[in-house]
Amino acid sequence: MPMPTKKVVILDRDGVINVDSDAFIKSPDEWVALPGSLEAIARLNQAGYRVAIATNQSGIGRGLFDMNALNAMHLKMHRMAAAVGGRIDAVFFCPHTSEDHCECRKPRPGMLKMINERFEVDPEHTPVVGDSLRDLQAGASLGHPPHLVLTGKGRKTLDAGGLPDGTIVHDDLRAFALDFLADAQE
Ligand SMILES: [Mg+2]
Ligand SMILES: [Zn+2]
Repeated sequence: MPMPTKKVVILDRDGVINVDSDAFIKSPDEWVALPGSLEAIARLNQAGYRVAIATNQSGIGRGLFDMNALNAMHLKMHRMAAAVGGRIDAVFFCPHTSEDHCECRKPRPGMLKMINERFEVDPEHTPVVGDSLRDLQAGASLGHPPHLVLTGKGRKTLDAGGLPDGTIVHDDLRAFALDFLADAQE
């Protein structure tokens, strides 16, 4: 008997869950949830999905903020999610810059590989949601269905084209959750 598929959704952070900024999100004050995003996470949880985040945070490698600030942002995120009944099970972040040539900075798939191992997921049934091409590329390279949201850099990403085959586009994380859960029920 095959193991039942683990129900996990993998999200990018900036521009998907919270408002993004070209000047980076450097402090808890700058971390502001997008409308409906935390409720969308709660809705996924209620349907039995665990939520993991994979986020490039090169602001650390650039010295724009430190681990204390990142931890404080994530504490705020977890608390705000909990306030609407949502839970984020894991946050994987890459602190490097592109000059570090690490394996974790998206579009490389290192963080997704770690999530897949930790949660024993089947990539084919585990959507990756992002607002940037590199989120979708990282997912698609491992066989995850890529989902683009039009919040954050999403509109620019859509306009620039070149999305991985099979990319599904949603207005925002709330729309993703509704579409995805409706499809999963069929
Ligand atoms: Mg993003
Ligand atoms: Zn890295």
